[in-house]
Amino acid sequence: MSFLDLLKKNLDQIKINQLYRSIPSISAHAKKYISLNGSVYLNLSSNNYLGLADNEHLKKAAIFAIEKFGCSSTASRLVSGNFDIYNKLESTIAQFKHTQKALVLNTGYVANLTLLQSLAKDAVVFSDRLNHASIVDGILLSGAKFHRYAHCDIEMLEKLLKKETSNKIIVTDTIFSMDGDAAPLKEIVKLAKQYEAFVIVDEAHATGIFGEGRGYAYQECVSSDIDCHMGTFSKALGSFGAYIASSELVIDYLINNARGFIFSTALPPAVIAANLASINYVRKNPQLGKNLLSISDNIRQFLKKLGFDVGNSVSQIIPVILKTNDITLKSQKLLLEKGVFVGAIRPPTVPKNTSRLRISLRADLDENDLKLIKDAFVHLGNAL
Ligand SMILES: *Cc1c(COP(=O)(O)O)cnc(C)c1O
Repeated sequence: MSFLDLLKKNLDQIKINQLYRSIPSISAHAKKYISLNGSVYLNLSSNNYLGLADNEHLKKAAIFAIEKFGCSSTASRLVSGNFDIYNKLESTIAQFKHTQKALVLNTGYVANLTLLQSLAKDAVVFSDRLNHASIVDGILLSGAKFHRYAHCDIEMLEKLLKKETSNKIIVTDTIFSMDGDAAPLKEIVKLAKQYEAFVIVDEAHATGIFGEGRGYAYQECVSSDIDCHMGTFSKALGSFGAYIASSELVIDYLINNARGFIFSTALPPAVIAANLASINYVRKNPQLGKNLLSISDNIRQFLKKLGFDVGNSVSQIIPVILKTNDITLKSQKLLLEKGVFVGAIRPPTVPKNTSRLRISLRADLDENDLKLIKDAFVHLGNAL
């Protein structure tokens, strides 16, 4: 078999398993309503939770930065030096997250990859089984010894911590991307103190929403017990890129060791300016996240009453777990008939037999939108 035949065989098998993916072409990505193959749908598939992706403040800041600084940052920051706005963004994040320092990385994926690769190489890592793929990849790249504990299973985590003697790192998402549930941060922090572990949290889905936008650790009052906070600008903050907020020592270590920082061209000025505008916007509008969480509660209760399995969601991400790929894809189509577009999530993004619809809500949904969502799920419930 030729090499290309091998690739084709892989794709054929993916199709047989109903796991084939293609990229839907949609217009007006950032908007609440999108058009897909000529029809208009309410978009509940994006991570633009606060609707900031087309916010006027962000757009103006980005355009101004392009006019002033051009389109590229032209090299890695260690080589070509800093624009002022990088420093401004990093000091703003550090202040917002109540840490000594912050460092901006090009994506959330790269941030986790390079953070774990550089920090974990002489450590033992304890990672929640449902942590984001970028965390898993970073651990693998570091070559560190690691344990995966069952999802949010504190007892199992403690057993594993007891077994190891030194340089322990616990890493967890705070809000899990495909389940919308929350890590038991208070318990994790307690164990970390008891067993002398360093704690890293990924706030990709909590930043901008929980804790007045500062994240779930802040809301749970354990912010200062976390050693390293990672978060993204690409979701609720409506832009692109990621940050790591931590102590001066850790950030200095990363600047000197993190390959994803050292060997990659920095984000362009327009993105940095939009990120800064976004953080400032959230700081001035801390109620945005709260509104979103109350909308989410409303929809979650409604779905539960209809008998749908929404797992342990406590956030703007609500899974509707349907188990098989077949039923999940059918359900996605049934919701489309009623004007609602949600993602159909299948393995390997989620474990086998837990295929699901993933509803991601946004803060600017009004009464009419909520009615549309509810009607669509009544339709789905009747059809299944
Ligand atoms: C989306 C996501 C990332 C990756 O962030 P990008 O900026 O999209 O690369 C990392 N961690 C979690 C938990 C995520 O959901």
